[in-house]
Amino acid sequence: MSHKKGKQTIGCEVNGCAFWENQYCGLDGIKVTPCQHVNNGVPEDETLCASYSKKQGR
Ligand code: SF4
Repeated sequence: MSHKKGKQTIGCEVNGCAFWENQYCGLDGIKVTPCQHVNNGVPEDETLCASYSKKQGR
């Protein structure tokens, strides 16, 4: 498996995140974690972006 550090573009739809910039993540890299105690295969239940930060004023 190739190591792609620094070579990825992250599309994102979480417009409430402080790092969100017009359909993309403004960070150089993010961390994605599995949700605890969930194993139902539904994408929105299984994982989330652990680099999320609440946008100010929301
Ligand atoms: S940190 Fe995560 S939630 Fe925030 S813009 Fe980047 S990918 Fe989206």
